[in-house]
Amino acid sequence: MSKSITVLIPTYNEESVLPDLFNRLNKLSASLPKYNWQFLFVNDGSRDKSLQLIKKQAETNKQIHYIDLSRNYGQEIAIMAGIDHTDTDALVIIDADLQDPPELIPKMIEIWESGFDDVYARRVSRAGESWLKKLTSWGFYRVLQKSTHVPIQRDVGNFRLFDKKCIEALQQVRETNRYNRALFSWIGYQKQEIEYHRAPRAAGKTKWNYRQLINLAIDGITSFTTTPLRISAVIGFLISLGTIIYIIVIILQTIFNINYQPGYPSMMATILFLGGVQLLSLGIIGEYIGRIFTETKNRPLYFIQEKK
Ligand code: UDP
Ligand code: MG
Repeated sequence: MSKSITVLIPTYNEESVLPDLFNRLNKLSASLPKYNWQFLFVNDGSRDKSLQLIKKQAETNKQIHYIDLSRNYGQEIAIMAGIDHTDTDALVIIDADLQDPPELIPKMIEIWESGFDDVYARRVSRAGESWLKKLTSWGFYRVLQKSTHVPIQRDVGNFRLFDKKCIEALQQVRETNRYNRALFSWIGYQKQEIEYHRAPRAAGKTKWNYRQLINLAIDGITSFTTTPLRISAVIGFLISLGTIIYIIVIILQTIFNINYQPGYPSMMATILFLGGVQLLSLGIIGEYIGRIFTETKNRPLYFIQEKK
């Protein structure tokens, strides 16, 4: 029996690239007819004609399937919804905007067939993205890498191929504050890297703004490491130690009456500094407690309007 492969495409307001994408996907399945192809579009609450376009295409093309989510949940959850509905031998995740070339998929399949479970594509260049985005992304990966024990591949997006084993593993991870890229590393299995040049968006514009990217970064750090909690504890410890030494010095100065002078500025500085450190630590603790709060509610990750 021939092996089956799902291509998962999270889609949010992508009407301008979909026709192009259908073409490229059709070419892909035609070039590798020995596999059973499924193209699974997860419509993440698009407000444009994306869903109509997908449905229309699905009427004539039996390979096309779709899940229509009840609202916009964000790319991470859209991918999860797709993973939940995958029961093929392999799964490839790509962006709808053709930044991840479908032409790379045959190479991924080749590596998968040679025995690897997770073939991920690392971008060696990213065209059409601002230097600020590249710089912040570079910094973020390094901070995340330094602060967690999970090896997280840098410059790796969601573009990758998973074996059934990985799909089944991911279906069991039900956390709400998801950071897929780190989760994908965390599940383990035999990984293999391939390199590619990330193309600019084929059309339309990016669906991520800086606020969402910052949130994603905080999710990434807080869901994979508790190092920030430790840092605030260490700062607290060092300050207490310094303060104890300072108090001893003051007592000695008072007893022996050397160089003793009341100091308003030094007092203010100390109070403000300690206040700042306390608020910072509270904020960090709060981030984690907030996450515990959302996780304990244990809500379903998404709801589905319709699917085919
Ligand atoms: N996407 C989604 N839900 C969202 C935002 C984006 O499903 O809330 C999809 C989007 O349609 C695209 C992919 O996620 O297929 C990547 O989005 P985008 O290209 O905007 O991100 P970038 O490439 O700029 O990081
Ligand atoms: Mg993109």
